Amino acid sequence: MRAAVVRAFGQPLVIEERPDPRPGPGQVRIRLEASGLCHTDIHAAQGDWPVRPVPPFVPGHECVGIVEELGAGVTRTAPGRRVAVPWLGWACGRCEHCLSGWETLCEQQINTGYGCDGGHAEKMLAHADFVQPVPDGVSALDAAPLTCAGVTTYKALKVAGVRPSQLVAVSGIGGLGHLAVQYAKIAGARVAAVDITDDKLELASELGADLVIDARTQDVGETLKRHGGAHAAIALAVNDAAFEAVNAGLRRGGRLVMVALPAHGTVRIPVFDTVLNGTSVIGSIVGTRQDLAEVFQLHAEGRTRVIYETRRLSTVNESIDDVLSGRVKARVVFDLGAGR
Ligand code: NAD
Ligand code: ZN
Ligand code: ZN
Repeated sequence: MRAAVVRAFGQPLVIEERPDPRPGPGQVRIRLEASGLCHTDIHAAQGDWPVRPVPPFVPGHECVGIVEELGAGVTRTAPGRRVAVPWLGWACGRCEHCLSGWETLCEQQINTGYGCDGGHAEKMLAHADFVQPVPDGVSALDAAPLTCAGVTTYKALKVAGVRPSQLVAVSGIGGLGHLAVQYAKIAGARVAAVDITDDKLELASELGADLVIDARTQDVGETLKRHGGAHAAIALAVNDAAFEAVNAGLRRGGRLVMVALPAHGTVRIPVFDTVLNGTSVIGSIVGTRQDLAEVFQLHAEGRTRVIYETRRLSTVNESIDDVLSGRVKARVVFDLGAGR
């Protein structure tokens, strides 16, 4: 099987031929149909974060495919089923976080495409208890971006506690942001979309944003304030200054939800304004298996649209460059079906 491998940080990925992996106890082998390129894969390949993966590794955690072989003891899925493998590849199930509905905070978790090989390949292994069944009628290509971009923004909206009639600012309309706009609308909010490219701002309007703010030419904080201030701001742009800009647009009592993970990201939050205005800063990391099930359910009901362009796995390095320069329409999904 072929896989796109990070051999060294900051170097182009290498397409390698590897033997098919054999599932151990509790694991399944999946023949991949689709794998979304999340910006996190780029951070992984560049070694951007304090906790780094160990090369060589295969990135990719928006993995969708067909179960092909079961390891010992697997009973909850079967060969032929379409499943998705998210960032949360495994969690202990026994710690305080796992037991209280916060498995995404488990200290023993294993992250797909980071702590073990991921989906930018023709085949992969996954822990059967952490693969998510893809409902009938949801295509593999649609399911892929939902598996990280979808679940992460759906959860961020939950964490923000958004209620109908509130104003939500979504900063960064890329893979995550184009879905965040839709979940905010589903929650009944008015949405202000912020980006720095015309295409992304147009896309946000098409997807229901009530207001678009071009951060190149407009003061994000002032514009939001003119509209009453945001009850919540979801920070998805990979840029420290963008966090500060939306934070400045919060209304009193508003919440900044940090989701993007810029390399060495450090944000200056004014103490005086935060205290006097009673605003909060919250971090939000992906979502649970239950959150992902809800994301798939909404999509199966026709309530979300996933925007992506499909490419071959061999374009992985150009695709990374295109994401970094904002040339991609929302998401790149590697189409791994039919032996491509
Ligand atoms: P992306 O590259 O698809 O989207 C980023 C968007 O931000 C682009 O549309 C870009 O034009 C826009 N942007 C850039 N500079 C901006 C600025 N100054 N103001 C406004 N917009 C600006 O990336 P993505 O895949 O959506 O991921 C976004 C970030 O979220 C990455 O850092 C990724 O690692 C992180 N992430 C976090 C989680 C989590 O659980 N917290 C999960 C997935 C991804
Ligand atoms: Zn991701
Ligand atoms: Zn745990």
